[in-house]
Amino acid sequence: MIVLSDGLDFYIKRILENYHFGYLEVRANHLCFVNTNRIVPQFPYWQHTCGACANCKGYHLRQSREQGNYTIYIGDGLSDRCAVKEADVLFSKGELMEYCQRHQVHFFPYSNFNDIVQKLQELENRETQIN
Ligand SMILES: [Zn+2]
Repeated sequence: MIVLSDGLDFYIKRILENYHFGYLEVRANHLCFVNTNRIVPQFPYWQHTCGACANCKGYHLRQSREQGNYTIYIGDGLSDRCAVKEADVLFSKGELMEYCQRHQVHFFPYSNFNDIVQKLQELENRETQIN
């Protein structure tokens, strides 16, 4: 599992650590503390971007799929738009759900992570019955 964000790693890692998920890999923009008076944002994935995102989530999904991975994507906002067409399975809510409906992208709606776990178990059971 990888956390993709168009935000800054500085606060994302802090939030994950607070909830005991500090071990998760994070791919986000980087905040560099140069000294006590200066911080500089850095964009380590900029060269792979679509031109609209600082950290294009579509790029990360394409890369993962090229490595043979099955991708399950969970998103809710503007910065998730590039990822929706790249995911094998998409979970969507909020603004992203409206975007998917407007652009006829298949998704599973969710409210919380329990919804996602339940749907994935359902899909797994269906797959097991077919095979
Ligand atoms: Zn993008």
